[in-house]
Amino acid sequence: MPLRAKYGQEDISAFDYDQKSWDSLKSIYKKMGLLMPCCNAKAIPKTSKLGNHYFSHSVKGDCTSVAESQEHLYVKGLVAKTAKKSGWDVKTEWYGIAPSGEQWVADVYCQKGNAQVAIEIQLSRQTKAETLSRQNRYKQSGVRCAWIASKTVFDCNYIHSNKETPFFLISKPVVGEIPTLDSFNVSLVSFVDSLLSGNLSWTEEPWIHSIQYIEDQCWKCKKENKQVFGYFIDWYESRAMTVPNASTVLSEITNIVNNEDLKSLGLNSIGEFGKLKGNAPNFPFCNICLYCGAPQNNYYLMEKLKFNSETKSVEYQSKNQFTGKWLLNENP
Ligand SMILES: [Zn+2]
Ligand SMILES: [Zn+2]
Repeated sequence: MPLRAKYGQEDISAFDYDQKSWDSLKSIYKKMGLLMPCCNAKAIPKTSKLGNHYFSHSVKGDCTSVAESQEHLYVKGLVAKTAKKSGWDVKTEWYGIAPSGEQWVADVYCQKGNAQVAIEIQLSRQTKAETLSRQNRYKQSGVRCAWIASKTVFDCNYIHSNKETPFFLISKPVVGEIPTLDSFNVSLVSFVDSLLSGNLSWTEEPWIHSIQYIEDQCWKCKKENKQVFGYFIDWYESRAMTVPNASTVLSEITNIVNNEDLKSLGLNSIGEFGKLKGNAPNFPFCNICLYCGAPQNNYYLMEKLKFNSETKSVEYQSKNQFTGKWLLNENP
């Protein structure tokens, strides 16, 4: 059930009408020759029992457009109206074709200059694969798509917050009641306005690992060095427990921080020494003295750890791992 009808070369939108002008449209529409955007059948302006304004097929014929719930119609109208107020050209049920030849129909399509935004209202179940494929179709077409979905149908694990697929949950939609976005503590109207006014942005923060070490002395050059033996991030901790396991943990640390950065933190670097006495066979990773380059075997490291209760840690800000989230600008 579209909110849009074709009127000659123009479009008319139900959300532009108040009760009075809608009633007067109803009295003159026959002379206007309004057509449905889906199939060019004759369109009739109607008012649902719940008060939604929409256009209906005079004869549905073989049109394949799917019926929508009253809630969907209501939320779509609300979003379209808000988008228009925010200064965008807005069309509902807008048809486009991706370069692949696949067609898309946007619930709410907004355009301003070169910017194209689609807002999809998703109140019924949809597989994640379908969502991502529709998202991709928009992307290929140069359209940025955001999803407004009902939290009674989707949860926050459906699509994790990410920049590629902005997916936002609203409270249970009820016709006539403006839904809210709990995670932003705002109404849908205010949210859509922020989204289309550049006041919603994706921000990323680097992961911060703490690298654990003990203060020691190199067996070879006798200088004070810092032997790395573990790390933690938030609640997760991984530290050397046995001689073979020390190699595994140190290997994990090489995935977090490179030797150059370990050195700049004043820590030993980490290297592989397959045949080193004191390392377990097939567990080659161990500390390397940052001053003389001598390997510090893991048997030695574990012995040191047994008798050294004073373990320390230093924070390391990741250069390639980030946590991101959508943030609303509080003072638009
Ligand atoms: Zn149709
Ligand atoms: Zn040394």
